[in-house]
Amino acid sequence: MFGCVTGPYKASNKSYKKQVKAFAKILAEYPIKDSVSNAPYFAGTTNFNLRKPNFVILHHTAQNSCEQTLTTFTMARTQVSAHYVICKDGTVHHMLNDYFRAWQAGVSKWGNATDINSLSVGIEIDNNGFEPFTDEQINSLMQLLDRLKRAYNIPTANFIGHADIAPGRKVDPNKYFPWQKLADSGFGYWYDTTNIMIPDSFNVIQALRIIGYDIKRPEAAIQSFKLHFDQADSTNVMTDADKKILVDLVKKYQ
Ligand SMILES: [Zn+2]
Repeated sequence: MFGCVTGPYKASNKSYKKQVKAFAKILAEYPIKDSVSNAPYFAGTTNFNLRKPNFVILHHTAQNSCEQTLTTFTMARTQVSAHYVICKDGTVHHMLNDYFRAWQAGVSKWGNATDINSLSVGIEIDNNGFEPFTDEQINSLMQLLDRLKRAYNIPTANFIGHADIAPGRKVDPNKYFPWQKLADSGFGYWYDTTNIMIPDSFNVIQALRIIGYDIKRPEAAIQSFKLHFDQADSTNVMTDADKKILVDLVKKYQ
């Protein structure tokens, strides 16, 4: 669909190419005009390459069809986008070169990183927010993640959800998302609470912070944690079972 000369994305494809050309011009600039006043001596290094994404952020679209999402991401006024959109039948639409910055994470935080858009590839999965994901979608997703992980050497810990990086603001992907299946293939971590004891001094909020959660609003961070690691329970109460999960996870993220 993307390569079609005519069709619904003709105008946005044209705009895409025009914007890429403008960015290429910025990259080619040398000497760099902005730094003339404070760094006037130019000595081009021979040793460099492109910056790479280090995270993958997973989303559900919260829309009613793939078509609707593609339309949303090809209209300038919406100001939202993603690198990939995966339809219910498993079709993967590549909307933006991985090296560019998509507008998918919004105001977010993970560890001390705040400009997640600059650090990540964003993948949107067609899903209205309240339904399971299809096997075709998950199969396509796993293949895509495998390629991204190898191409950019993305750490296992850095496959996370929109809700993880924006507690209290985002709830995607929804509770049906198969995080454990992904972790089994090396995309994100899962837990094993066999023989795990909760230390007397265990601090839930500090543990969430070690994993990466923004703990400015503790109850929101707990909610995001549970959406990812204890999907059957939608409360923001940390049970002993949840605490054991966290005790084990902290070891993996340290
Ligand atoms: Zn999202």
